[in-house]
Amino acid sequence: MTSNLRIDAQRLWDSLMDTARIGGTPKGGVSRLTLTETDRQVRDWLKRECERLGCTVTVDEVGNMFALRPGRRADLPPIAIGSHLDTQPTGGKFDGILGVLGGLEILKTLHDAGYETNAPLMLVNWTNEEGSRFAPAMLGSGVYAGVFDRAYADSRADRQGVTFGEAIEAIGYRGDAKAGSVTFGAMFELHIEQGPILEQEEKVVGIVEGVQGMRWYEISVTGREAHTGSTPMPMRRDALVGAARLIDRIEAIALEHAPSAVGSVGLIEVQPNSRNVVPGHVFFTVDFRHPEDGVLDAMEQKLMAAVDGMAAQGALAVESRKVWESPAVRFDAGCLASVRRSAQAAGFPARLMISGAGHDAAYIARVAPTAMIFVPCAGGLSHNEEESTSFSECAAGAQVLLGAVLDYDGRGAERPS
Ligand SMILES: [Zn+2]
Repeated sequence: MTSNLRIDAQRLWDSLMDTARIGGTPKGGVSRLTLTETDRQVRDWLKRECERLGCTVTVDEVGNMFALRPGRRADLPPIAIGSHLDTQPTGGKFDGILGVLGGLEILKTLHDAGYETNAPLMLVNWTNEEGSRFAPAMLGSGVYAGVFDRAYADSRADRQGVTFGEAIEAIGYRGDAKAGSVTFGAMFELHIEQGPILEQEEKVVGIVEGVQGMRWYEISVTGREAHTGSTPMPMRRDALVGAARLIDRIEAIALEHAPSAVGSVGLIEVQPNSRNVVPGHVFFTVDFRHPEDGVLDAMEQKLMAAVDGMAAQGALAVESRKVWESPAVRFDAGCLASVRRSAQAAGFPARLMISGAGHDAAYIARVAPTAMIFVPCAGGLSHNEEESTSFSECAAGAQVLLGAVLDYDGRGAERPS
């Protein structure tokens, strides 16, 4: 089933640029950490926009927002379109945001055309996708899908000691609905690729078949603080040197499983962080990813061997903890077929791919048929203020999203009720 409906590319672009001012940075990026004052502002804005279109907005107990647009048949479960409006501390204007504002543009397009879908539509803004302020990532969609419970989410603390529970109360987004109680029949997520493949191959649309598996660890290395001038080298217990050796090993482990494995240390804290004190304590994070869970098992074993080996030498105490893991995900064949037909009908060059980054869709796939659509981002750059997706690429993504939702809706109606 095809439709001649066209999204308004300029209106979509304007909404991206306008909301980028909420938490906008001097370098043109966005700093909108989850459950902060800027997050509240963009949430309030989204709520107003959806209500203006006649949608009913429900907020659940972990702040996930659901805007419902009724369809012709109330007996059909809604088709959801979801992503996230929170960003990294130095994030871009498109990561997550395109998925929500692309969905909003679809609601506006349907509203202007007076188009009634069979099933209701539901636009979703998932809380704390980034995991930057409160680890782990994809916390809101994770609670929704039953991966975590509300108490666990509430207990997560940021580096200042403020908990998720305190932060959500502070911005007034603790909703009444129990997590998981606002249900839908399928979800589509539009997102920037956050990698270089589409751009390199001059494709406009990625039909995302799945998400690679991911594991996060936290490692603490403890030695002894000492004077840098008067402590002889053999007598030092330098926690930072120990951490550096582990970090070097982490890169080597990823390279041993090339080309698909990646391993990164993105956060490191050194104490006391003073130029004339031998560091006594280092905390750092590890992020391992691969499309196969078996390879991740092997990478984990090697990491633990490196940690145990260093601890066994005796000079440093090393503690490691796996804080999160997300198994490899395969998306729903029916949803993927709708994306493929939509990309074809719109005439965009497309390719199948696996997502290198985690997404809310990965958790939602556990409870509902789900698929993702990728559009390119310049240089594959993301989690960066210079993250850039063009006017026409944003429009293409939203157009394919609209087509996929309408295709899925049309096929649903063909099934006997
Ligand atoms: Zn994202």
